[in-house]
Amino acid sequence: MSFAIFLDVDGVLNTRKTVIASPDGHIGVDCTRIGILAGAIKKYGGGALVLTSDWKNVRIGDDLNYLREKLMEHGLEISAMTEDHFNKRGQGIMNYLDTHPEIDEYVVLDDNRFDFDDFSKLWERLLITGGIENAAFASKTPAVEAILFREYIKELS
Ligand SMILES: [Mg+2]
Repeated sequence: MSFAIFLDVDGVLNTRKTVIASPDGHIGVDCTRIGILAGAIKKYGGGALVLTSDWKNVRIGDDLNYLREKLMEHGLEISAMTEDHFNKRGQGIMNYLDTHPEIDEYVVLDDNRFDFDDFSKLWERLLITGGIENAAFASKTPAVEAILFREYIKELS
């Protein structure tokens, strides 16, 4: 079994109300929210963090280093990043899954819908967030992974 978490940052590890600034002066990330993420992953039995957020493209340098440091404080490490074009974030995840057949369970954390509903497997594993503590199923028929992961988030929030 190999579990992966496809992670957006803005709207998951922060909200518009977050007052912490990143090194480059953008909205930073909240330690409490990273703690919830780390706790949920631990309860799940561990998993690989794959960054889908546009932090991977437009926040390279000090901000990405800062994100890595903040995650590391909770024992988390970004293991990979997806590649996507023109906000086709779902397609980027599908491409990643194609090249990583070992991943048989995964969830998608994001505050936006992008093209996710083009792919039923992603839609069923998508938790739409308003800050990670507010995670709602995108699908009316969520996958078991999404049900479990959301339950763990709720327990930790
Ligand atoms: Mg976002």
